Amino acid sequence: MKVLVLNSGSSSLKFKIFSQKDLHVLSHGLIEEIGTGHGSYHLVDPSGQLIEGKANIPDHKAALDLMSALLKKHTGLDQLDHLYGIGHRVVHGGESFKKAVLIDEDVLETIKKLIPLAPLHNPANLLGIKIALEHAPNVPQVAVFDTAFHQGMPPHSYLYAIPKDIYEQHGIRRYGFHGTSYSYVTRQAARFLNKDYSSLSCICLHLGNGASCMALKDGECVDTSMGLTPLEGLVMGTRCGDIDPAIIFFLNRTLGMDIDDIDHLLNKKSGLLGLCGESDMRSIAKRFSAGDPDARIAIDLFCYRIKKYIGSYMAVIGRPDCLIFTAGIGENSTLVRQKVCEGLEHMGIRLDKELNEQPKSDKAPAYSISASDSDVHILVVPTDEELEIARQTIKVIGAN
Ligand code: AMP
Repeated sequence: MKVLVLNSGSSSLKFKIFSQKDLHVLSHGLIEEIGTGHGSYHLVDPSGQLIEGKANIPDHKAALDLMSALLKKHTGLDQLDHLYGIGHRVVHGGESFKKAVLIDEDVLETIKKLIPLAPLHNPANLLGIKIALEHAPNVPQVAVFDTAFHQGMPPHSYLYAIPKDIYEQHGIRRYGFHGTSYSYVTRQAARFLNKDYSSLSCICLHLGNGASCMALKDGECVDTSMGLTPLEGLVMGTRCGDIDPAIIFFLNRTLGMDIDDIDHLLNKKSGLLGLCGESDMRSIAKRFSAGDPDARIAIDLFCYRIKKYIGSYMAVIGRPDCLIFTAGIGENSTLVRQKVCEGLEHMGIRLDKELNEQPKSDKAPAYSISASDSDVHILVVPTDEELEIARQTIKVIGAN
């Protein structure tokens, strides 16, 4: 039997098929530019061959029809109805979902009610679910939420110091994101360290185009850097991360920017892009090495903010078992890892420079880059959100 993982975005549909028995990836693909008139698709078949093309894909229903036809032709999956289960990525589960759930009418209704908290993501996720339910009404489908992992945070972590009725009536609080990634990499780390998950304490850095960090104590998330939305916290590719909220009043009152302009500025034009004109860490790192001053300040600031979070999380959870680097930058940027760890020796975090420079192995589920005398293990753990969704999907279906 096979498990399908779907990530439905506003104009894209990402999919991956796993064998249920051993979670081996059979095929994966992406359909893009849905509804734009110049759609495109690609799929990697079970032999590793890339199939790609262009097609008119007017809406998500057409995208799912296309995916289904591609899977039939290239993987032998004759109907989606023959799947063991379908796992859907859902960005915001609010306070309603503390773990992955089997989808029914109530779940659909609750995800819909949460749209105000994730107006860009939940509608597209919901649409993907509804169309998959139409295509495969007899297949159990599971919603896996980015926020669920952080639902155990204590109130002093998740509340903002604003009048409490705003929280009570409108759910304005910190939720945190990247939860599926954290769930995956922390479990991999526990396995690597041969530690029981319920006794694992760690600080985990998910550094991709979106970036966040998370503190885990005794297997429970106690804090994370993203908040009501993914804008809070670390400096990111195009997001500003933590700023003085009064900047928003200034931009409005003094510069006359309206709320949509400010939203765009802080989410899409800030972060690394705002500081040095581009958001891709690979080229920023090259410019850094060549002595470019804008690239230098961008990377300095990026790493400095991460260090401050590590310090504050160590004040909260004490000395962790490990510091985990994951996602595009965390898994690949030796420069960022080195700059983040520099100066943290007094906190028991000692990097081995040679191990840090070793080429990443895609096969290794986790590897250590800490010096032999480091009190805290420093690990690189490649993340795999789709695999985690497949795992959670199988678990939820099995339990039901
Ligand atoms: P993600 O959102 O996890 O796909 O990560 C995207 C980020 O990872 C981008 O900033 C990329 O520039 C960065 N990245 C990917 N590969 C490398 C690499 N080899 N060295 C440095 N940064 C990288």
